Amino acid sequence: MTDRYCVFGNPIGHSKSPVIHAAFARQTGEDISYAATLAPLEGFRESVMEFVAAGGRGANVTLPFKEEAYRLVDEVSARAALAGAVNTLIVTRNGIRGDNTDGVGIMRDITENLGCPVSGRRVLLLGAGGAARGVIGPLLDAEPQVLAVATRTKEKAVSLGRSFGALGPILGASYPELAGESFDIVINATSASIDGELPPLPDGIYRPGSLAYELMYGHLDTPFLDHARQHGAEFAVDGWGMLVEQAAESFFLWRGVRPDCSDLLEKVGDGAVCSITA
Ligand code: NDP
Repeated sequence: MTDRYCVFGNPIGHSKSPVIHAAFARQTGEDISYAATLAPLEGFRESVMEFVAAGGRGANVTLPFKEEAYRLVDEVSARAALAGAVNTLIVTRNGIRGDNTDGVGIMRDITENLGCPVSGRRVLLLGAGGAARGVIGPLLDAEPQVLAVATRTKEKAVSLGRSFGALGPILGASYPELAGESFDIVINATSASIDGELPPLPDGIYRPGSLAYELMYGHLDTPFLDHARQHGAEFAVDGWGMLVEQAAESFFLWRGVRPDCSDLLEKVGDGAVCSITA
């Protein structure tokens, strides 16, 4: 019997996760299917329960349900508990286990695939949603000189600083407070690009040789990446590598087999996309 997996999100039509997991299944010989499932904004829990009742073995969760997924599961991994957000559901005999592979995904992409060290660097993370919460712990583990987290509402930034403060040097800031600061790595974990918007960044935030990393994938011309190129970032990269790496970690959690990502890091579906643009 083919084991069923899926990704829940809203919207979900753009998701490349089915393509990635189909490639992993071919490569490893695992007998799985993986679909994209649109969950109603007010019906995420019902969608998950229906999937599990029909024999589903596991799922990914994407925007905007990661924090709701955290509240829904029966048990969580330590990294998901730290993030307060779940992107991977694993159906076990005891119920649904929640994990978060976003942090592993972005760290493997930035440090291994792109060869950009985080240790000792000044890092700026934009946004405070599910994806941002998933990457803060692993970023702090890598011992940056400082991790600044900027959000539109100061209270959210301060509260994030409090939640993660024991792990390392994290500063919560509003966007205007970034004026005069500069960074080696700027990560856009907001959903602004989906709406064609740019987070309200002041000028001068990119240091020489800096990396601008857009979590949204498949587009190298987002307002954030365009702004980064125009304002001194040396490298402007989308989140395709992170998506592939977080998917590989989810696949490993479900199947106990770690796929090789190298082929996929060069492709989105049939067309070549992504990678570093100077
Ligand atoms: P959420 O909806 O949980 O959070 C979105 C965040 O974006 C919030 O902090 C929100 O701020 C902020 N935001 C929205 N619009 C703007 C704007 N115009 N200016 C500034 N901030 C804004 O989304 P996720 O965290 O789940 O996802 C964020 C992005 O990351 C998406 O594009 C998603 O596709 C991508 N992603 C990519 C992954 C990958 O593997 N490549 C993995 C996970 C996510 P506020 O709270 O103030 O409303």
